[in-house]
Amino acid sequence: TRTQDDLTRPSATKKDMSEWLVKLEHMFTVTPQRMRMIVDGFVEVLEKGLAKEGEDVPMLPTYVFGWPTGQEKGAYLAVDLGGTNLRVCHVELEGDGKFEVTQTKYRLTEEQKHADGPELIDFCAECLGRFVQDHYADDDGNVILDEPLSLGFTFSYPCVQEAIDHGVLLRWTKGFGAPNIEGHDVAAMFKKSLAKFDVPVELVALINDTTGTLIASAYVDTATRAGIIFGTGCNAAYMEKISSIPKIADKGLDQTEEMAINCEWGAFDSSTHEHLPRTPYDVIIDETSNKPGQQAFEKMIAGLYLGEVFRLVMIELIDEGVLFLGQETYKVEKPFGFDTAFLSLIESDTTDELLTVTGLFSHFYSLDTTIKERQFFKRLAQLIGTRAARLSACGIAAIVSKQGYLEDGCGIATDGSLYNKYPKFPERLGEGLVDIFGEKGKGIRTYHAEDGSGVGAAVIAAMTKARLLAGK
Ligand code: BGC
Ligand code: MG
Repeated sequence: TRTQDDLTRPSATKKDMSEWLVKLEHMFTVTPQRMRMIVDGFVEVLEKGLAKEGEDVPMLPTYVFGWPTGQEKGAYLAVDLGGTNLRVCHVELEGDGKFEVTQTKYRLTEEQKHADGPELIDFCAECLGRFVQDHYADDDGNVILDEPLSLGFTFSYPCVQEAIDHGVLLRWTKGFGAPNIEGHDVAAMFKKSLAKFDVPVELVALINDTTGTLIASAYVDTATRAGIIFGTGCNAAYMEKISSIPKIADKGLDQTEEMAINCEWGAFDSSTHEHLPRTPYDVIIDETSNKPGQQAFEKMIAGLYLGEVFRLVMIELIDEGVLFLGQETYKVEKPFGFDTAFLSLIESDTTDELLTVTGLFSHFYSLDTTIKERQFFKRLAQLIGTRAARLSACGIAAIVSKQGYLEDGCGIATDGSLYNKYPKFPERLGEGLVDIFGEKGKGIRTYHAEDGSGVGAAVIAAMTKARLLAGK
């Protein structure tokens, strides 16, 4: 908080709000030229990740082979553990790109995200068990099945896979930190929990939400070339020629086939710090996170972090005696105490007096704002939201360039709270792509994807079963 000293500091050394804005605009603006440099660096990094293990961007083989036909059919279960909720779905695939989903959500507590790993996985299995009981039991409460139900487990963290029903958690992201899972095969842990609670389910596939998004969208739209999540976290998947993945050349796979790659691009530039225009606020976020030195790109883009970038700027300006003069500011001083949804709200306020912004600050933080402060906040939200979208466009452009999709254009299936709810996020992505590629950038269509974590998991389970039947 401010001291009397700060308040009386001579004005010659002190920037006012509009001078701060000039400085912040400079820090947060990513110029077209800078974007093209980022894309070039990004393409190289993607290629490095395919060539060998242990790179920043791990480019994880998923063992999802090729595209769905759209004719996959049958009933499947999906469990989705990805950030905010745990979800269990029953998915009925009807073919012709049609499906039906019944789902139940279970809230995850902060404690669970940090409790013992096996306990967290047990919880997932227990919720699935309850769901199966609720949906499949006869009048006497017995679940009688000819064969176990097939499950796709969407576990949206970086996993190193050597088969579709296997995956060693490389590291937690998105603020999770449960011990005793990193370095372990999550699929094996889940199978163990299923057996422990006697759940009549067979884990067929362990998948990432981006891979699910890619495949669920391809199930309904054959123009889909990548699946991207802009949510609590940020990541992309796309389809790669197996012959272009040197690091698995010795696995005896059919080199004429394709495999989905889970890029884990949130890790871009984490150890190098040579590509991204990080601000001091990004550095603080990284250093105070439970995973310093990781997910550098994600921390500038994803929903978990944008509110915190905003808050850190606010804190600096409070300390500098520029904002909220003479008011008690402890409520905004709590780390991660400013939700990204508030940036959405601020950006959506189109009233002259910015009345939503007034209400937000008074209601949640007991702070009065001047119109100048509110205008400042709106501009700041725009800067942070626009930077996130433009950096995201760089990632998309890297995949498009690397794969040669620009000439014919392509579809990019996209999901997550930022894409779906943040004002103008899709438009800013589009503008970013035009800044990178010129008019041709308009041929890269982003659209809201089908439920990748539910439907995608089901389609992948169906594709996997079909391959097994075919003896592959
Ligand atoms: C995870 C990815 C995931 C993304 C979106 C990231 O933090 O590392 O595996 O796809 O969030 O949920
Ligand atoms: Mg999700």
